Amino acid sequence: MQLKDMYFDTLAVRAGQENYDPVTGAIATPIYQTTNYAVANVDEGAARCVDLEAGYIYTRLWNPTQKALEEKVAALEGGEAALATGSGVAAITAFFTEVLKSGDHVVSDGTVYSATQYFFSEILPKFGVEVTFVDTSNPGNVEQAIRQNTRVIYFETPANPTIKLVDIAKVVEIAKGHGIMTAVDSTFASPYLQRPLSVGVDVVIHAATKYLGGHGDVQGGVVIGKKDLIMKIREGTLKNMGGIIDPFAAWLIIRGIKTLAIRMEKHCANAMAVARYLEAHPKVDRVYYPGLPSHPQHELAKRQMSGFGGMIAFEVKGGLEAGKTLLNSVRLCRLAVSLGDADTLIQHAASMTHVLVPREERLKAGITDGLIRLSVGIEDHRDIVADLEQAFKQVCC
Ligand SMILES: *Cc1c(COP(=O)(O)O)cnc(C)c1O
Repeated sequence: MQLKDMYFDTLAVRAGQENYDPVTGAIATPIYQTTNYAVANVDEGAARCVDLEAGYIYTRLWNPTQKALEEKVAALEGGEAALATGSGVAAITAFFTEVLKSGDHVVSDGTVYSATQYFFSEILPKFGVEVTFVDTSNPGNVEQAIRQNTRVIYFETPANPTIKLVDIAKVVEIAKGHGIMTAVDSTFASPYLQRPLSVGVDVVIHAATKYLGGHGDVQGGVVIGKKDLIMKIREGTLKNMGGIIDPFAAWLIIRGIKTLAIRMEKHCANAMAVARYLEAHPKVDRVYYPGLPSHPQHELAKRQMSGFGGMIAFEVKGGLEAGKTLLNSVRLCRLAVSLGDADTLIQHAASMTHVLVPREERLKAGITDGLIRLSVGIEDHRDIVADLEQAFKQVCC
């Protein structure tokens, strides 16, 4: 019986730790809090400098705790190899900096994580890379945006602000037809709910800060793909640009992943209950949750994901003022921008994250005045609903 043939929940607990500490037999992966590794002689030193797989030499190049995390995540995504980084953004930038050169072109979805958006529109153009933004949930848009020099097609699914999905298999088919690489930020789903590599995606990226870590106490990222590419990123941009993960952060994410399966089950069940409650609420205009039959891509969600996730967006009636009042009235839900924590987090883009964005521009991005995002946690869903209920009472009709 080999670990690689086992089920997801087993891999989440056990993968990456088969070679437990041979000195003590420790079952939990040790935190290798060291910068340097002694070598026996100069030949061994030379071998490790030339080939990272020959042994550890310096923690910016590789670290055993980092490696354990990488093996675990690679197993969960069904990938050959993974690379762990110091944040989700570091994973995204390490990947793109490695594979792109001046003169290349990227097709990206128009709504990607804010820092990714900045990287694409402000940083890459400085180095001669152009990015075209389209709505990739319509695969025809992807086909149209492709150019001779397109190198990567990139999107998130599910994605902000309305928990939109992209048909992964369809986009892969288009990309393969043109010999272009696809990369997916799968953070909102986690490997528990969808595995893009299994339908032909080349690279999967996660902000491990979110569901993988799962407790809102650590920052990290991962890139999963073919071993050759992962080693190239490790030895190229990661090693030389330095976006590495700290051993303690890697350890916290390993610890988080052990409970990923049971946490995701609870996130999904809770989100479904809260989404149903919101959909029936007279002060709510619309609910966006892939698990509701009213979600325009509910059928795709059923095909592509094994559960509908913990992220909900909804529009409160009464726009900006109603949104502000609702957020200022919640007590259990925490006002915060992140997602994927055990704690339920709520945010109102128009009055919080996007307060400096001109209204017209914000509306064009689909962020309406009353749009609220909920990252449903793993508390008892009845308490989450009760909190929203008492907060809605403060919102005038
Ligand atoms: C949070 C997030 C990121 C960035 O992760 P950090 O750890 O904050 O750098 C990237 N993509 C998505 C979809 C995210 O939610």
